[in-house]
Formats: sequence, structure tokens, C-alpha cells
Amino acid sequence: MDLSYILNHLGENRDEYFGAVAPPVIQSSNFYFKTVEQMRNAFVNEQSTSIYTRGNNPTIAMTAQKIAAMEGAEDALLLASGSAAIAMAVLSQVKAGDHIVCVNHPYSWTHKLLTQFLPRFNISTTFIDGRDVDNFKKATQPNTTLYYLESPNTMYFELQDLPAVTSLAKQNNIKTIIDNSYCTMLVQQPIKLGVDIVVYSATKYLNGHSDVVAGVICSNSETIKKIFHNEFMTLGAIISPWNGWLLMRGLRTLPLRLNHISKSVV
Ligand SMILES: *Cc1c(COP(=O)(O)O)cnc(C)c1O
Repeated sequence: MDLSYILNHLGENRDEYFGAVAPPVIQSSNFYFKTVEQMRNAFVNEQSTSIYTRGNNPTIAMTAQKIAAMEGAEDALLLASGSAAIAMAVLSQVKAGDHIVCVNHPYSWTHKLLTQFLPRFNISTTFIDGRDVDNFKKATQPNTTLYYLESPNTMYFELQDLPAVTSLAKQNNIKTIIDNSYCTMLVQQPIKLGVDIVVYSATKYLNGHSDVVAGVICSNSETIKKIFHNEFMTLGAIISPWNGWLLMRGLRTLPLRLNHISKSVV
């Protein structure tokens, strides 16, 4: 799908709001149904129906649809922060007794999640130098269910060979999550390289203007549906409609901003 179409038109049903080019901020916690039957029908698919904003909200859904399309993912969820996105994505893939392999030097609060929070639930993590795929192989245990990746990783900018790591993971029935905040989907599309779940701090490049804290989880429809009905609805770390709107506004200039950033870094 054409990037300009995604950023400027996809998901924007302007006929529904007076043809306004900038979509409305639907700042409503709940939604109205004319009949009880209509409400009951809405609950059949809470993930894609606006009933209550902890689940779904039209402004937020519009932004999520754009991000999923940009990522080349089937679906996406927006969260209150990158840390919330990371925690929910990781929690969705582990249970008590499981083991995670993570690259050295992940984002600080990811490190805290893996080293201090998850051990309380008997989930352990081994940190490795992800630059050599053999290190993943060596660290994998019978109870390893997840490889957690950042390529490049935080501050150290160490890369992983994503096709090699994801193919090793698939051979061993291990899921992969990558924090792609640094590259963004305009530079690196991890799903095409075999990664199962892509997470973002949208606070950084995706929004861009230093006025929103937000996070994203992208994956296939089945995984997103599972996360929606479990971690997402239970933990409730949702983005507000206003922040969802600001994130959409920020996204519209992402290609221009990244282009400039790439030039000025050289
Ligand atoms: C900032 C950052 C996070 C955390 O995101 P918040 O939106 O601040 O919660 C996660 N990963 C990376 C790589 C980051 O730079």
C-alpha cells in the first residue's frame, strides 16, 4: 500500500464527520446503542466495535490501522507507553517456568521487566551478545519460549541477523519480539524478516513532537486478538483518544522527519 495513501487517507471515513480533513477526537469513554439487541451484538466483537474506550475508540482505531499498514502487519494495538507495549507483548508469550533469551543492553525498563519483575513469577532470562546467532542457540533451554530482540540495541547499536535468529526460533517453536523503536518500519520491517511481534515506543520517532507518550504492538490478527482479550483489556494501559489523535498527526510527517534525521546524522 502506498505510504502517502496510508498516512493521509487510510481509515479516514470523512463522510462520517462532515468531510473534515483532520479527523475528530472522539473523546468519549462509552458509546450509545439504540437497542439492547444492538449492544449485545456489539459485544460479540468488542475488538473492532466501539463500546467502551478501554477496548476500542474510533480515533485510536484509525491511528492503529495506519500503523499496522505501515508495518505490513495484519493488526496493531496502541498503548499508553512503549514500556506498556513491551510488558504486554512479553507477558502474552510467557507463563511461570518459562525462559527468555534477550540481547544484551535492552532498553532500561525492559531490563527491569526481565530481571526484577518476571522472576517474581518464576520466569527467567539469559542475556547474550546477539551479534552472533550461535549465542542464541547456546542459551536456548528446553523451556525457552521467547527471544527478545532490539536491533540495533539501546545505546550500543549492536545488530542481530534477524532472518537467521527468527529461523532458529521457528525451528525450536520459540516466539520472537523485537523493539523496533530506533529504526521504525520505514527503515526496517521485522515481520518480513520472520519476527512474530514488533513493539514500539511511539513516544520517539513515530510521534516525533515530544508531546505524547505512547506504545504500539504489531502482529498477526490471531496474536493481536489474543493480546486484546487478555493483557490489553485486563491491564488497561490504553492511550487516550487525544494522544491517539496527536500520534496520527505526528505520523503524517514521519517520512519527512526520518529523511531529515538520516541526513543530519551523517
Ligand atoms: C523510550 C524507549 C522505550 C520506552 O518507551 P516509553 O514510551 O518511554 O515507555 C522502549 N524502547 C526503546 C528502544 C526506547 O527508546
